[in-house]
Amino acid sequence: MSAVNPCLACGICCTRFRVSFYWAEADDAPGGCVPAAMTEKLNHFMRCMRGTNSLPRRCIALEGEIGAAVACTIYENRPNACRDFPVFFADGTPNPRCNELRAEFGLPPLERPPLPEAA
Ligand code: SF4
Ligand code: SF4
Repeated sequence: MSAVNPCLACGICCTRFRVSFYWAEADDAPGGCVPAAMTEKLNHFMRCMRGTNSLPRRCIALEGEIGAAVACTIYENRPNACRDFPVFFADGTPNPRCNELRAEFGLPPLERPPLPEAA
């Protein structure tokens, strides 16, 4: 994550959903990368991140204070469910689900990031 990534001062989505994924994404399967010790079994096919399967939810891999300063301790190895929840879409527009979640927490909506300056 870059220094300007708004997720570093948010983290709310890591506390609102059950983060589930195909079991073989974990590192006890060939080619898997999500630390298996941070997961729990849901059924024969699915796992989830520990901490996200019951209330109050908070992913075990999240460190820091929600809405202030947070980090995903397994960012490079996070499951696809996390990779598939973008903060900004490809065209630069903010994810409206982020703003809904942020509003629940009293955080301001995300703004479209400024375009890079021409060289
Ligand atoms: S809710 Fe959106 S802005 Fe907040 S951490 Fe998740 S992806 Fe980032
Ligand atoms: S793995 Fe990382 S990005 Fe995914 S929910 Fe947990 S802390 Fe958030």
